[in-house]
Amino acid sequence: MSQITVFAARSILTLDPNTPEATHVAVRDGRILALGGPDCATPWGDSVPDDRMADSVLMPGFVEGHAHMMAGAIWNYTYTGYHDRIDPDGKLWQGLATLDEVVARLTEEAAKLPVGQPLVGWGLDPIFLPGERLSRHHLDQVSADRPVMVMFSNFHLLCANSRALELVGYGSHTNVEGVVMGPDGNPTGELQEMAAMFPLMRRLGVDFRALSMTDDAVRRYASVCQRAGVTTATDLYSTMEEDDLDRMLRLTGEDAFCMRLVPALGANAAPETISSRALTLRARSTDKLRLGAVKIMTDGSIQGWTARVLWPGYVGGQANGIWNTAPDQIAALCLEMQRAGLPMHIHVNGDEASAVTMEALAAAKAAHPRPGLRHVLQHAQMMDAAQFARAAELDLCVNLFANHIWYFGDQHAALTIGEDRAARMDGCRSALDAGVPLAIHSDAPVTPMGPLFTAWTAAMRHTMSDRVLGEAQRITLKEALRAITLGPAYTLGLDHEIGTISVGKRADFAVLDADPMETGAAGLRDIGVRGTVFGGQLHLL
Ligand SMILES: [Zn+2]
Repeated sequence: MSQITVFAARSILTLDPNTPEATHVAVRDGRILALGGPDCATPWGDSVPDDRMADSVLMPGFVEGHAHMMAGAIWNYTYTGYHDRIDPDGKLWQGLATLDEVVARLTEEAAKLPVGQPLVGWGLDPIFLPGERLSRHHLDQVSADRPVMVMFSNFHLLCANSRALELVGYGSHTNVEGVVMGPDGNPTGELQEMAAMFPLMRRLGVDFRALSMTDDAVRRYASVCQRAGVTTATDLYSTMEEDDLDRMLRLTGEDAFCMRLVPALGANAAPETISSRALTLRARSTDKLRLGAVKIMTDGSIQGWTARVLWPGYVGGQANGIWNTAPDQIAALCLEMQRAGLPMHIHVNGDEASAVTMEALAAAKAAHPRPGLRHVLQHAQMMDAAQFARAAELDLCVNLFANHIWYFGDQHAALTIGEDRAARMDGCRSALDAGVPLAIHSDAPVTPMGPLFTAWTAAMRHTMSDRVLGEAQRITLKEALRAITLGPAYTLGLDHEIGTISVGKRADFAVLDADPMETGAAGLRDIGVRGTVFGGQLHLL
């Protein structure tokens, strides 16, 4: 007979309406056996008390429904973002507020590298920096003979110096969508979206796979998750080649690996190739590695003006964005994944992308009805009430990028889509009112992983300038907490296993230093994470 452990806590917020609160939870075989007071396990036989969390608050382990494995290893590169950020080792990186500061930090880092080795920065947000936009000329100041490239925080754009552009052959003759040309007829250094970016990234040995598929990258990602109280997290654009699969099975199979990973296979090949690979992967799933979902990337980034938006477009008059996957290809992918019964996570930022994608899904569902197969519109930042109503008709889920309200809300109102549409961005209220299953996310490393912060943004809708943007889209405290637990669990098809503290579910908890019911929505962002419990094993920080 397996041991029964009874964990005592200051309070347990179960998010299960049948037993909303408790002070003790009994665990056997990694699953929740009973809930209530100190005697909750008595009917089940002898048990062992565990008081190590007696002054902590427990919630269901948080579920990050949209993040990337490279959230750990991206720190191998130089952080050049505007916001202060903390790396996986707990070190604080000061944000950079001017281009001069960016150039200074890169120059400092370049001096530490061997001659000729490319210098790679990440996290840059030109939209926050005053004056001219970052160009190759600034990066030429960092180094004229070493390739230098800086990824923007959205990972949809980058800027390269002249040496790097030369290596990949971009010049005045270049005619590639996304290679931005200056008034002098030469590339400015800015490369927008994957078709323009990938050749350079390949040339410099920077690829998302290399940032995700090493032992160190996977372990660092697990530590990012643990610090945030996350026990199940996605990796929403995984290569999952055979080597990657072996690595992931080996690492997640270690007892010390204290989380569940849900990678989605990036759709970067013919539809039938993707579906057959995803079906093969699905058959290899384990408890801690859930495979079989597919990620489709449609448009770009709103703050990079590469998202595909409907009328009236961008307030600055920028051209409509860039398709990473053309509409007819989106339709073909949706049709094939639906036929094969594979769940899709589909990146749609602008409202044209969500409209086009929903009609592709409507056609796919008409051709191959598969009730219960869950597809998720990811980011879905510009959907309005009518689009959420359409999503409800089509039985789609949404995972909204609530962190944008705080990080980019002021910029969206002033510089990208204007006040009115910014006020309904990441419209959690509209989604719930339309009956669409809702999750919210960080897209780490685009913004830092921290589900309580994400819940705070959805409930409060404060921007960085500390005003409220779109009060009508606020959701309640309980709705926000659900959107970081059961909500994302549902989008991953795991709501029967995780997302609430309920008898029979996995014993995955977030260990907190305060009770959200006491702090209220306004205090969510200040609650500290002390660690996690995964499958009944305590992992304090
Ligand atoms: Zn993403």
